[in-house]
Amino acid sequence: MATKNLALASLIGNKTYIDTVFNQVWSQVEVYRAANPQSSLFAMALGNTSQPLPRAVVEALVEAANRLGDSQTYTGYEDTAGNPRLREAISTHYYEQKIGVKIQPEEIFISDGAQSAVVNIQELFAPDNVVAVQNPTYPAFMEGTLLANRPLVYLECTEANGFVPDVPREAVDIIYLCFPNNPTGVIATYEQLQGFVDYARLHQAVIIFDAVYSPFIRNSNTPRSIYEVEGAMECAIEIGSFSKWASFTGLRVGWCTIPETLVIHQTELGELNRLWQVRHGIKFWGPANVAQYGAIAALSSVGQSECQAIVDYYLENTRLIRGGLESIGLKCYGSPNSPFIWVKASQGLSSWEFFKELLESTGIVGVPGNVFGSNGEGFLRLSALGQRRTIEQAVESLASFAMEI
Ligand code: PLP
Repeated sequence: MATKNLALASLIGNKTYIDTVFNQVWSQVEVYRAANPQSSLFAMALGNTSQPLPRAVVEALVEAANRLGDSQTYTGYEDTAGNPRLREAISTHYYEQKIGVKIQPEEIFISDGAQSAVVNIQELFAPDNVVAVQNPTYPAFMEGTLLANRPLVYLECTEANGFVPDVPREAVDIIYLCFPNNPTGVIATYEQLQGFVDYARLHQAVIIFDAVYSPFIRNSNTPRSIYEVEGAMECAIEIGSFSKWASFTGLRVGWCTIPETLVIHQTELGELNRLWQVRHGIKFWGPANVAQYGAIAALSSVGQSECQAIVDYYLENTRLIRGGLESIGLKCYGSPNSPFIWVKASQGLSSWEFFKELLESTGIVGVPGNVFGSNGEGFLRLSALGQRRTIEQAVESLASFAMEI
């Protein structure tokens, strides 16, 4: 007798981030659109990218597709942990040259973006491990934990602590950290991350560090990788992605770094890395080889400067929106080190009230902050990953909102 997965069934019906955005946010947008057919709409809800792929990536994709279409150069299944050249490129061009840390290519596993990696990585750990997640943060960490039926505790991120949590007070085993955090855009200092690394080493816990937005960090004295923090190679897994800074949201390439030196309770050096290799061989044989060739090109010197232009574009969008919001007296967090603006609701409105008011007076669509965790109540997240024209028009439309606040 087959029975359904109760953990999965418990997440049905607008209980997940994606369903909430697509059903609840967009149903209100539809109502607004029906009532205001002439009005402009500025979609700044999703963290979806708008800039095209860098030229170097497009050329590599075409070349790779042509190689697949030629019997002389055709290739089929490849290394399940990912293209060795891509693992090498991440090791050299990302970790060594950009961040300044030494990560071996064998410590890097290529994934189809960060989404699957941040959730699947829990399979490395025992089912009773307690998971800590920031509140608010990217909902996949929490949803993946509920799906795995693991105990969950929250690390409180509030205005009072600048949205960077303290280390857990209770014993936890797996700690998700995301900086720059989605939705707040807030980054953590060396000292703050050192506190988590020290905690993890003391308690034999593991940190899962989501570094998807680290290429957006412009502060020179802020860590862009957890491995910049002393001792992190012994207690942290890092997850990266080509999605936001190289326009790979549709192509789907990311990675997961599991250092050989990472050890948890009753494991040997290199064991977790080998376990993940086994898991890859059973469940995942890597993303499309064409996409991986595109990722190699994104890390070439030409590719990197094109990607830099993409990040600069989004950061300028962020600066423009934040400037517009602040000029009408709204308090914002996050930028300039992320493509998100975390706006405090005016007049003590709830997240959904503020969402509605902003939509009705300006046509701007954000995501209510409480969708990212209870501490997001009273805030709204706006994404700056859209087209510049949309951003500029959205900023202009704020004038009508200013009249109401
Ligand atoms: N992690 C965070 C913090 C994100 O915001 C996102 C996407 O928005 C992801 C992971 C998933 O990214 P990817 O497109 O690489 O799967």
